Amino acid sequence: MKCPHCTTSVNLEIEVTTTWLTKGNDESHTGYDVACGHCPECKDFIVMLRHGMAKINRDNGYYYLDTVTNENVLYPKYSARKVEPEVPDHYRKDFIEACSVLPFSPKASAALSRRILQDILIGKFEIKHRNLDKQIDEFINMKDVPSYLTQAIDAVRNIGNFAAHPLKDTNTGEIVEVESGEAEWLLEVLESLFDFAFIQPIRLEQKKSVLNQKLQSIGKPPMKG
Ligand SMILES: [Zn+2]
Repeated sequence: MKCPHCTTSVNLEIEVTTTWLTKGNDESHTGYDVACGHCPECKDFIVMLRHGMAKINRDNGYYYLDTVTNENVLYPKYSARKVEPEVPDHYRKDFIEACSVLPFSPKASAALSRRILQDILIGKFEIKHRNLDKQIDEFINMKDVPSYLTQAIDAVRNIGNFAAHPLKDTNTGEIVEVESGEAEWLLEVLESLFDFAFIQPIRLEQKKSVLNQKLQSIGKPPMKG
């Protein structure tokens, strides 16, 4: 799993609680347990509620989950995603919201993320097309965009299966079905886009200005460009 604290992919060593059998007319014995453990990387604590098929342990008479069909992280409440201070406030707010609703509604998270993506393409890169599909085309054909980013943004259309869900293209903020992994992918893409569009340009300017001050202090003219 990916640690929700530090986002590293880790093998969590877990301890599980008693298994509670699902109440009601449940012939097949499904049940719940709570699994927890410390992330081996950041050492932070993680708690998950798991659901699956329960079997009885003949030695002690207790049930345990034999196969886990579903698990939800109960703690931490939101998955960690750091937003650097260079990212403008309105994108940051929407992005944090897209992260925080992800565990409850990947559909809502993906809709927010698509809208942020479109807002950046229009607001920052002045791409005028109305449909996200065309906007992505124009963006990936722009000069100076690194290939990892063009490929990542291009994949938004395939992973989201725009062909089957045309509203994702024409009404980006619409809450529609998501494909598996789509909401998470959009968040990854937005992080890379934040870096390229907002963070790196400001940091490069800052480095340049430090170098220019050094030049000035030794009586030399500033760098060109
Ligand atoms: Zn961790």
